[in-house]
Amino acid sequence: MIEERYDVVVVGGGPAGSVTARTAARQGLNVILIERNQAIGVPVRCAEGVSKGVERFIRLDKRWICAEVKGANIYSPDGTKITLGGDKMEEVGYVLDRKLFDKALASDAADAGAEVRVKTEAKGVISDSGYIKGVYARSMNGYERIYADIVVGADGVESKIGRWAGICSPLKPSDICICAEYMMCDIEIEHEYSEFFVGREVAPKGYAWVFPKGEDCANVGLGISGDMSGDGHRAIDYLRAFIRDRFPTAGVLTEIYGAVPVCGPLARSTANGLILVGDAARQVNPLTGGGILYAMQAAEIAGDVIAKAIQEGDTSAERLREYESRCRSEFGKRLETGLRAKEFFFSLSDEDLNMLAHSLEGITLNELSTGALLLELIKRNPGRLVGLAKLIL
Ligand SMILES: Cc1cc2nc3c(=O)[nH]c(=O)nc-3n(C[C@H](O)[C@H](O)[C@H](O)COP(=O)(O)OP(=O)(O)OC[C@H]3O[C@@H](n4cnc5c(N)ncnc54)[C@H](O)[C@@H]3O)c2cc1C
Repeated sequence: MIEERYDVVVVGGGPAGSVTARTAARQGLNVILIERNQAIGVPVRCAEGVSKGVERFIRLDKRWICAEVKGANIYSPDGTKITLGGDKMEEVGYVLDRKLFDKALASDAADAGAEVRVKTEAKGVISDSGYIKGVYARSMNGYERIYADIVVGADGVESKIGRWAGICSPLKPSDICICAEYMMCDIEIEHEYSEFFVGREVAPKGYAWVFPKGEDCANVGLGISGDMSGDGHRAIDYLRAFIRDRFPTAGVLTEIYGAVPVCGPLARSTANGLILVGDAARQVNPLTGGGILYAMQAAEIAGDVIAKAIQEGDTSAERLREYESRCRSEFGKRLETGLRAKEFFFSLSDEDLNMLAHSLEGITLNELSTGALLLELIKRNPGRLVGLAKLIL
C-alpha cells in the first residue's frame, strides 16, 4: 500500500475544506486536500444564497456571482408579503455559482501551497495510541495511507470522519432538513429580491425559496424537516406542488436533492489529532439552513489553531479545543438563537404565522438581520411572542 506523509490532511473540497487548507498552507504547513468527486464544486447541492459577508473570505469575482439582490420578500401562508431591505440577512446579498465559487476557493488553497487531489475518497481514519494519525484513502491508484499530524473532517452533512473518530453519531430525521430544488429557466421572478414562502402546506417545518440567478433563471426549492417526510409527502412532492401553482410553464435545467443539518453545532468537534469543520460539525443556522459563511468562518479559525498546535507539537483534543471556544464566541450565539427560533416557529400554526405577518404588513424593514427581525416581531407582538422572547433574550 502507498504511504504518504503531510502535516495536515483535509477531507472534503467544499468551502470548509478549501478555506481550512488555504489558511493552514499560508502558515507554511504541508497540506493535502482530498475530494472524493472528480471535480471540485459538483454536484451542486445548494440554493447558493449568501450575504455580502462573503467578501471577507474571498476577493469578489463576477464569474461566480450570478445575481446581486437588494433584500428579501417573505410570504406568509395567506400570501401576506413582508419586505426586508438591506443585506444583513443571512443568505441574502449574492446568489453564487457554487460550481465556480468552490473551484475558486480550492484554487486559492492550491495557490497557498496546498496539494488538491480529486477522485480520492477517505475510507477510514488511522488511529494510534488514542490519536488520529491520518486517513485510509482510495484513489485511481488504489488504496493508500495518508499520515498527518492533524486530520480535518470537512466532509459535509454525511460526515463519516467524525463517526469513525467516535465524536458524533448519525443525525436523527428531526435533525435534518431534507431539500429538493430545481434550477429553472423561462421564469418570471423578482430579480432584485430573494423570496421565501412559509406555511405547513408549502413546506412543513421548513420553507420554500426562489433565489434569482439571472434575468429569467432561478433556484426554486424547498426544505422540510426530516420527520415530516414520508410516502407521498416528500420534499420533491411539495416542490412539484409549489411549482404547479407558481411556475407551471417554466423549464427545469437541473434537479438537486440534499440535506442540511439543522440541530445546532456538535458539542464536541475535536479529538486528539482531529478537527471537524462546516456541515461536518453542523455549523449551520438551524433557522435559515445557511451554512456557507459559517463553514468558512470556522475554517479560518481551524487553520489558525492547527498551525499553532503543530508548531507547539501538541495536537491533543485539549489543545484543539481553542477552535471550539473561538467558534462559540464568534458565532455560537447566532446558531443558538437560530435553533431556538426554529423550534418556536415550527410550533406555530399557519394562522399564527399569518397574524405575525399582518403585524409587519406594509412596512419595509431596512437593514434587518435575522436576529433583528425576530426582535421586531417580539416588539410588535409582545403577548403572543412571550415564549420566543423567553427563549432568545
Ligand atoms: C438544497 C440546499 C440548499 C442550500 N442553500 C444554502 C444557501 O442558499 N446558503 C447557504 O449558506 N447554505 C446553503 N446550504 C448549506 C450549504 O450548502 C452548506 O452549509 C455548505 O456547503 C457547507 O460546506 P462544507 O464545506 O462544510 O460541506 P460541503 O459543501 O458539503 O462539502 C463537503 C465535501 O466533502 C466531500 N466528501 C464527503 N465525504 C468525503 C470523503 N470520504 N472523502 C473525500 N471527500 C469527501 C464531498 O464530496 C463534498 O465535496 C444549502 C444546502 C442544501 C442541501
